[in-house]
Amino acid sequence: MKTIIKNARIIRGGNIEENAALAYEDGILIPTPEDDAGCEIVDAGGQYVSAGFIDLHTHGGGGHDFLDGTVGAFLGAAELHARHGTTTLLPTATSGTYEETCAMFAVFEDACKKNSAGADMPGIHLEGPYFAPTQAGAQDPRFLVTPKPEQYLPIMNATDKLLRWSAACELDGAMEFADACREHGILCAIGHSDATYECVCEAMKHGFSHITHLYSCMSTVHRINAYRYAGVVEAAYLCDGMTENSLNGNGLTVEIIADGVHLPKSLLQMVYRFIGPDRTALVTDSMRGAGLADGQESILGSLENGQRVIIEDGVAKMPDRKAFAGSVATTDRLLRTMVHLAEVPLADAVKMLTETPARIQGLSDRGTLDAGKRADIVFFNDALNVTRTVVGGRTVFEMS
Ligand SMILES: [Zn+2]
Repeated sequence: MKTIIKNARIIRGGNIEENAALAYEDGILIPTPEDDAGCEIVDAGGQYVSAGFIDLHTHGGGGHDFLDGTVGAFLGAAELHARHGTTTLLPTATSGTYEETCAMFAVFEDACKKNSAGADMPGIHLEGPYFAPTQAGAQDPRFLVTPKPEQYLPIMNATDKLLRWSAACELDGAMEFADACREHGILCAIGHSDATYECVCEAMKHGFSHITHLYSCMSTVHRINAYRYAGVVEAAYLCDGMTENSLNGNGLTVEIIADGVHLPKSLLQMVYRFIGPDRTALVTDSMRGAGLADGQESILGSLENGQRVIIEDGVAKMPDRKAFAGSVATTDRLLRTMVHLAEVPLADAVKMLTETPARIQGLSDRGTLDAGKRADIVFFNDALNVTRTVVGGRTVFEMS
């Protein structure tokens, strides 16, 4: 049966269309039929309706981490995030043991078959273990190593569900690693890195094309003896496809943890103004504490080998309070932060949660409300609170 959403303020293509309609059938968006006889009608009541939110970087939520090694953890986190407007997420694994990483893929495929009420999970993002120890952040330094083909090739060859891999491009073997990612169709991102600007330019020729949580755990302007060097942060601004020789000619894209805590208003506004909504995705980088209240304790990473963290001021912190340990945000909060704190136009904030992350990750079947795309749809009210989430044509959340 066809479903028609009526009386909606539809956000698409950078615009807001008043009193508009949208239709889908069999999980796919279709042109709105002239005649609505026999169709299911959903009255949006004048609320905003946009493409569903896409989170390219989350470790879990609702008390679950994707490294827990259970189907229930995947489903629980996917359902928690769907209630906040996320229709697509990339389960992300911090650096762990090789065995934990391999086990995660097996459980993931099983979970996807049983996922009927959560965000869609097209594939996995590995965040580590090829990182600079000096930029470890909340990554467990015990697991950080340099990329070796005998370690990463078996993982790449064993699955087609590995969609993204974050690594520090200055490490020995990182360029060969990027070449291998490219051959396997894996998005290669720079993260937890001390690279110079020059190193980033070289890395782009090998296929590094995205920057993991811009500003967090990466180099910026620094001096080596008398000379000053630009870092990964500066590359994010400068490598916009106009000046540098990247593999695809598109320059670098970035993601920011837009929970309003990791980055202050000034940096959110700088990223919006100078990198822009077409090159910037909003991510939660949420850990298992997403959806939990302040004052509670949680664990970053696996229950067995993870690190104890505290939730305070709407963010997860390391016990010594000297570094953040991932956010507890959901995508609806990212939207509110960008609009209310950073004063970004609503349609642009939505773009950074939909169209742009879809393009960055190469998810061509979603990210806009064009006919032919997946019927991944989110409804939200004037306060930007999510009231209904539709994943692949199925309503998985409706505010009662
Ligand atoms: Zn992360």
